[in-house]
Amino acid sequence: MVVSDRVLMGPGPCNPYPEATEGLTRPMLGHLDPEFIQILDETCDRLRTVWATGNAVTLPVSGTGSAGMEAAFVNTVGPGDTVTVGVNGLFGERMCDVADRCGAEVIRVDGTWGQPLDPSALLSAHPSPKVIALVHAETSTGVRNDVAAVAAGKGDALLLADCVTSLGGIPVAIDEWGVDIAYSGTQKCLGVSPGLAPLTIGARAWERRIARPQSWYLDLGMIGDYTAGATRKYHHTAPIAMIASLHAALGALLEEGLEASWARHAQCGALLQEGLEKLGLELWATEGSRLPQLTTVVIPEGVDDGAIRRTLLQRYGIEIGGGVGPWAGKLWRIGCMGHTARIRNVTLLLAALGELLGR
Ligand SMILES: *Cc1c(COP(=O)(O)O)cnc(C)c1O
Repeated sequence: MVVSDRVLMGPGPCNPYPEATEGLTRPMLGHLDPEFIQILDETCDRLRTVWATGNAVTLPVSGTGSAGMEAAFVNTVGPGDTVTVGVNGLFGERMCDVADRCGAEVIRVDGTWGQPLDPSALLSAHPSPKVIALVHAETSTGVRNDVAAVAAGKGDALLLADCVTSLGGIPVAIDEWGVDIAYSGTQKCLGVSPGLAPLTIGARAWERRIARPQSWYLDLGMIGDYTAGATRKYHHTAPIAMIASLHAALGALLEEGLEASWARHAQCGALLQEGLEKLGLELWATEGSRLPQLTTVVIPEGVDDGAIRRTLLQRYGIEIGGGVGPWAGKLWRIGCMGHTARIRNVTLLLAALGELLGR
């Protein structure tokens, strides 16, 4: 058996909460067993609390965060629909591709990577889009986009937000902000293995959803009614172990308290960012829009990206991520998400990095 005790400080997955691992190893239940249905219902309730929403349609989609993205688009966007997408990183680009495959007329609003999107540019790009979409926490750049400001000006449009890296790590308030459709992933700040995509859809979006989406698997109309007490029918076999794991992790998160979790992420992010600057490294994302849970830092001139990351992994068991797209080889991306967001991990990484860089 391979035993590893990695400190996962890349852009995801993070280290799962111990409760999440316990949940994964529970004795198997059938997917229509009343005990499992109860776990599923409780999971949806816990998700409503974490999303800060009363949305009836709030569920863990079977699949990773990208499945959540696809479910969000395919159920609300059809051929010819106009969709405005804000792009200031890899995941905004992915949204354009997904919307395009739904047959949408995509209005792409490009921002600068490393800087937040301008809400007014998004809002003025088209007079009456069906959907306005943006990424809350751009994991490719470490930047926070102002979802609340865009939602406040959405008018008749539906507001679709990618909250894969934000949920659990920084405040997300679906109902208060007026977000109509949002999805997340389990392996970022929720502290679970990759495999599920928590999704929530409000009444406005549900009424305007596509009657017969182009995806069979992700057709939310068929997956059905997730309100408590609704009768479950077979659509596909739920990933029982993953749902049990998410259930347990959400229990731990809510026991800690959402605000306490945000504060822990904020504290670790601040400590990390201060420490990196003390090592003489340059933070890349624009000040004021930096995510605590994902820090981007410029790789100094003459430093071998691959060698540093390999040695961090082999000598200290610490994983960090590299840059993506145009920033491959130029940036490190350091995650402090979920169970990984602990002061001890930050201290260990800073010491290790200081030693390897000779600073
Ligand atoms: C990780 C991530 C995704 C994709 O999630 P997968 O679980 O890799 O499919 C989408 N959006 C953002 C912002 C992400 O960080």
